[in-house]
Amino acid sequence: IRDPEMSRGLGDAYKRQVYNKMNDLQPIVLPGIETKRPMVIAGPCSAETEEQVMSSARELAALGIGIFRAGIWKPRTKPGGFEGVGSEGLRWLKRVKEETGMYVATEVATERHVFEALKHGIDLVWIGARTAANPFAVQEIADALKGADIPVLVKNPVNPDLELWIGAMERIYNAGLRRIGAIHRGFSCYDKQLYRNQPQWYIPIELRRRIPNLPIFCDPSHMGGKRELVAPLCQQAMDLGFDGVIVESHCNPDCAWSDKEQQVTPDALRSILETLVIRETSQTTENLSELRRQIDELDNRLLELLSQRMRVSREIGQYKKEHSMQILQTSRYDEILNKRIAQAQELGMSGEFMKEVLQAIHEESVQQQMKIING
Ligand code: PEP
Ligand code: MN
Repeated sequence: IRDPEMSRGLGDAYKRQVYNKMNDLQPIVLPGIETKRPMVIAGPCSAETEEQVMSSARELAALGIGIFRAGIWKPRTKPGGFEGVGSEGLRWLKRVKEETGMYVATEVATERHVFEALKHGIDLVWIGARTAANPFAVQEIADALKGADIPVLVKNPVNPDLELWIGAMERIYNAGLRRIGAIHRGFSCYDKQLYRNQPQWYIPIELRRRIPNLPIFCDPSHMGGKRELVAPLCQQAMDLGFDGVIVESHCNPDCAWSDKEQQVTPDALRSILETLVIRETSQTTENLSELRRQIDELDNRLLELLSQRMRVSREIGQYKKEHSMQILQTSRYDEILNKRIAQAQELGMSGEFMKEVLQAIHEESVQQQMKIING
């Protein structure tokens, strides 16, 4: 825990040399698409109906979006939800291509998806976060892609494992593809917090350090899980030097069949993109703003942890109420205080500081328990 690199989950890998594999990756060039930052991929979470696909696509094309996304096969947490329209949607994407001139992109998770997508002229495919976590599935996709020459974007696996993420991209690379990109969509955690998926920005930053020529996209939609987080997350990604964004945009988000809370209208996307500030910051200030971002992220986590702790306190309050126990249990409090102070000192913080923090937390916990007991 004392090694800050270790505690950030990077360990020895952090100290390793810049990767020497994949040094001949090609940029994600598609004829007619501007390569200046940010490259934008936008479209609905899922293709739902031909009308929904076409009207979302027309509105996005009118904004100048060059690459249209839509999920055809949807990996859902539980069975019984909307699992995508399947291959029929590929015909709609073809129509998008013909009528708007946009390139079209979809998610593939199996060999059959790859064959179908290639057969229907899909221009770019991505591998989803759940699939990226499964080496068998990624290898199957890589084998199916052999000989194809399309850009492939690989989302980070749901768990924060940089090696697994790089490994997935290597499998695609070893199949002979060179236009490969990464999509950072955040990492899942048990307790839903501010973000649907935790950004843990240091992971894509380390990815950039190891494979400097790998284009990195941010997916603010799945990361934030809420419309209002799309703009700030796009900005953070740009400030960190990401190459592009992939944003969920739907002609009528409130009626979307999947991920409706995080989809924005094409018009909202226009204003998000218009207000994005693209800075070409120098290395030194970039380092400082990265450190500040880490502080912000840690503070967010502290707040979330505190609120979780209060929730547990209230549950304890409920228990005490049901069992007619008194709120303040002095021996328990003493025990916590002594243990935590010793731990804090081990971690290089003063005991006095920890005592003050704990007293403040304890006071708030007691208040919250009182409310439960008297409420
Ligand atoms: C998606 O992009 O539609 C998707 C399912 O995202 P993820 O794999 O990041 O959850
Ligand atoms: Mn989605």
